[in-house]
Amino acid sequence: MKVLVVNAGSSSLKYQLFDTVSKTVLAKGICERIGIDGSRIEHRKGEDGAKQIKNIPMKDHTEATKIVVSTLTDPEVGVIKSMDEIEAVGHRIVHGGSHLTKPCLVTDEVIADLEKCLDIAPLHTAAHLMGIHGCMKAMPNTPQVLVIDTAFHSTMPEEAYLYPIPYKMYQEYKIRRYGFNGTSHRYVSSEMIKILGGKAEGTKIVTCHIGNGSSISAVKDGKVIDTSMGFTPLDGVIMGSRCGSIDPSIVTFIMKKEGFTPDEMSEFMNKKCGFLGVSEISSDSRDLEKAVAEGNKRAELPQNILAYQIKKYIGSYAAAMNGLDAIVFTAGIGENNFNLREKVCNNMEFYGIEIDKEINFKTHHQGDNVCISTPNSKVKVYVIPTNEELVIAGDAEAIVNSLK
Ligand code: ADP
Repeated sequence: MKVLVVNAGSSSLKYQLFDTVSKTVLAKGICERIGIDGSRIEHRKGEDGAKQIKNIPMKDHTEATKIVVSTLTDPEVGVIKSMDEIEAVGHRIVHGGSHLTKPCLVTDEVIADLEKCLDIAPLHTAAHLMGIHGCMKAMPNTPQVLVIDTAFHSTMPEEAYLYPIPYKMYQEYKIRRYGFNGTSHRYVSSEMIKILGGKAEGTKIVTCHIGNGSSISAVKDGKVIDTSMGFTPLDGVIMGSRCGSIDPSIVTFIMKKEGFTPDEMSEFMNKKCGFLGVSEISSDSRDLEKAVAEGNKRAELPQNILAYQIKKYIGSYAAAMNGLDAIVFTAGIGENNFNLREKVCNNMEFYGIEIDKEINFKTHHQGDNVCISTPNSKVKVYVIPTNEELVIAGDAEAIVNSLK
């Protein structure tokens, strides 16, 4: 089945046309600067085809979707003859709130449930709604499926998802830990379960999704029992430009000192902290590695903080699960940065963790799942490249098939 996977941001729309039989990407691209001057589409055939860039006005997500469809069916740069070949659209949804806890077909009721998330995740939700409405207008006969990033975390017990604030804040404002990057945690943990023998029952895995945004999850019996991101993706470990968990008093202290409004403080914690804030160089780990190589000592700090924090999560999640079978590293940094992985796994013999430094050093994203632990290590340590689009396309296919 050919499924169009859509990831809509406020002024962008990323897409991948996926063939679920061959599990390959037929085409992918991004529409940028939607609704503002300088809109353009960047398109490529297959995973690594030559980039085709076309500057073309797109006043909203409906126009952007129409341009995606016409590009995909274009005789020269396209990969299909007609849009009828697209049997489903799978939308990546960042926040499903307390109502949307599994993949679902778009209906009026589902849209109403998603609109309820405007309160807790305004920017992402507004963008998703524009993307969904755009696709519904451009492809009125194609089923639309939502695949929700918070869904995989909906199995957490109360003691993991409740914050120690008055209970009525949970009841009235739905303040709780939701967790994010769920589609990635789901994919890599299910791959790890296959490696461990295929039976989810009895498995204890810590999945580390370490990219620009990062989160760690404890997956027991194939279900999330805890995760580091919380009410929003700001919680947990240090990230590219997000601070992660900090003493809550720092928030009010800085607001008073700097005269920040709540919105300015939120912008500060999301955009000015993390790797960028600590290094005062960049939010990108590759820039920091380069600076370290050039002798900048400060540039080393963010990675050391991150490695130490991941270590602490692994320890606490092993305690929460009463054991640990495997650790998985994934996403931009997790798949590519051997230094970070080595720092995390060093001095963890106490837990029975031992990595093969040589194999770890050689492992970069190469499409395969790679074991970086030694044969003696009690805990298996793997690098598993994430593939959220594959999961989204698979979910969309399953839902559409169930309608037949
Ligand atoms: P996002 O959370 O935006 O999806 P990614 O998972 O792409 O982000 O991760 C981005 C981070 O991964 C950046 O810090 C970047 O430096 C790092 N990264 C991505 N690719 C590589 C690579 N090939 N080698 C080293 N670091 C990489």
